[in-house]
Amino acid sequence: MQATENAKYITIGRGKTNHIVVPTLSVTDLHARVTKVGNEYWLEDNNSSNGTYVNEFRILKRRLQPDDQVRIGNQPITYRRLIKAFSRNPDDYTREFAELEGVWNEYVALKAQLENRGISDQIADLAVGVPLIGLALGRLVGAERSARKRRELADLEAHMTQVYACPKCGTPFPLTRDSSYQMLMQRSINQKQGHCLAGCGAIWTI
Ligand SMILES: [Zn+2]
Repeated sequence: MQATENAKYITIGRGKTNHIVVPTLSVTDLHARVTKVGNEYWLEDNNSSNGTYVNEFRILKRRLQPDDQVRIGNQPITYRRLIKAFSRNPDDYTREFAELEGVWNEYVALKAQLENRGISDQIADLAVGVPLIGLALGRLVGAERSARKRRELADLEAHMTQVYACPKCGTPFPLTRDSSYQMLMQRSINQKQGHCLAGCGAIWTI
């Protein structure tokens, strides 16, 4: 008897970290999964709102046949596409790359917070600076605060070089607008594929 192959699975849904992303409203975040058991592929609904269908029958779990018509919510998906998702290109870092969106957005928010606090510090300094002696003190406090702000910004940037990086080789993306998540994504749409600039071969296809 042949050894049983370990069950592997892929997920289908609207969420960006699924193996097959279907960005339409009739599809739930994590809508369904296909599990490979030996040479069989089993499609399973994940308690979705709009259902999973095989040959127009709503199913909970069903073994797939190559000529089955699969529909996820309102979205038909070919058998071939479902099966292809199992043979992931080892350089395909689409899902890992998608997770960098949250990392970038958090960075932008934290940086804005640091900079806005700078403005409220200046307003506080003006209030301190009414009497002459207070003015000198205010300047001193202000200098200390801006040094602290620079330190915090440097800490934030150091942290980002660890987490905002190519998901394969770890080369950090620069923290410029030109390398914002949205720009990296836009470039990958223009070129059909995103590539790591360090040349490690990682791609994030759309
Ligand atoms: Zn890389």
